[in-house]
Amino acid sequence: MHPPLRIDLYSDTNTKPSPAMRRAMAEAEVGNEQAGEDPTVNRLCRMTAELLGKEDAVFLPSGTMCNQISFRVWCEPGDEVILDQIAHPANSEAGGPSAMAGASMRTLQGERGMFTADQVREAIREERRNTARSRVLAVENTVNFGGGAVWPLRQLQDACAAARERGLKTHMDGARLMNAVVASGVSAKDFAEPCDSVWIDLSKGLGCPVGAVLAGSRAFIDRAWRFKHQWGGAMRQAGIIAAAGVYALEHNVGRLADDHANARSFARAIAQIPGVRLCFDATETNIVLFDVSGTGRRVPEVAERLRAKGVRMLPRNEREFRAVFHLDVDAGQTEEATAALREALAH
Ligand SMILES: *Cc1c(COP(=O)(O)O)cnc(C)c1O
Repeated sequence: MHPPLRIDLYSDTNTKPSPAMRRAMAEAEVGNEQAGEDPTVNRLCRMTAELLGKEDAVFLPSGTMCNQISFRVWCEPGDEVILDQIAHPANSEAGGPSAMAGASMRTLQGERGMFTADQVREAIREERRNTARSRVLAVENTVNFGGGAVWPLRQLQDACAAARERGLKTHMDGARLMNAVVASGVSAKDFAEPCDSVWIDLSKGLGCPVGAVLAGSRAFIDRAWRFKHQWGGAMRQAGIIAAAGVYALEHNVGRLADDHANARSFARAIAQIPGVRLCFDATETNIVLFDVSGTGRRVPEVAERLRAKGVRMLPRNEREFRAVFHLDVDAGQTEEATAALREALAH
């Protein structure tokens, strides 16, 4: 038997709604969401559209559905999505683009999941009768398996411009866009501007139990609504969960800086452990990827020893862990997790 889990760095999806967030949920005004009659959902959508500088937005159960509905709106069967090889839809959405939109994926080899305008230009196919049509470019900001990397604004603008010049649509997976905003000081609007569709996740570092919001032009959101219905994502008194999102946008954005500071101090400390190597030098946001193979210990064994101390991280493969910092882990727990890792690696 394991002791209780005290420090969960497995993912920022594991945050639990705080008492204040739960109160906001309990007190939410609600109505029939799919009829457009839930005032709290409508408020959350207006807030998000404004935050991202778009005409309209739609509330969805998950970020995965935001990605998949966007690809379905932009693509016909036989079309192609261009994205980085480590991007979420290419690895963790159960083959969604091919299943839901009939689209294939053309993957780029970026740096930490970020590519250049030249790479985009090279990947876009000439339109011929026998080629898949390159239809949409997708960017991820921050890049999860790039160790929470933040796109430099100029590089993002250039990559998207290269796609738009050739008639492609541009899509941003903004699961952790607010982390990018807080870390870089670039506004959400500026990051979203080069993208035709963009979404934020509420259930990661923002601390909500459920939900994501997808934004774009009014015409795009109209079409997105059609698939929301078709795929069973239209809801009823969804204000109960949307209220958590409103609360999070009002209270939980600025504090992401604390998570970034904890991630940085963890990274700095574990880099001193002999045999531990950070996968990326920079820790820009809340994610730290590191390799323990130099210690002579293997990941499953280390994971087990950590768990015996009440600490959990994500075993990424035989050599690497991912640790994600979030609102349920404070600076003291960050130090405890560092000590637990040091002990788990000791011989
Ligand atoms: C978590 C995540 C998603 C999927 O979001 P869900 O709300 O879990 O469906 C998509 N993209 C990235 C980069 C993610 O980290």
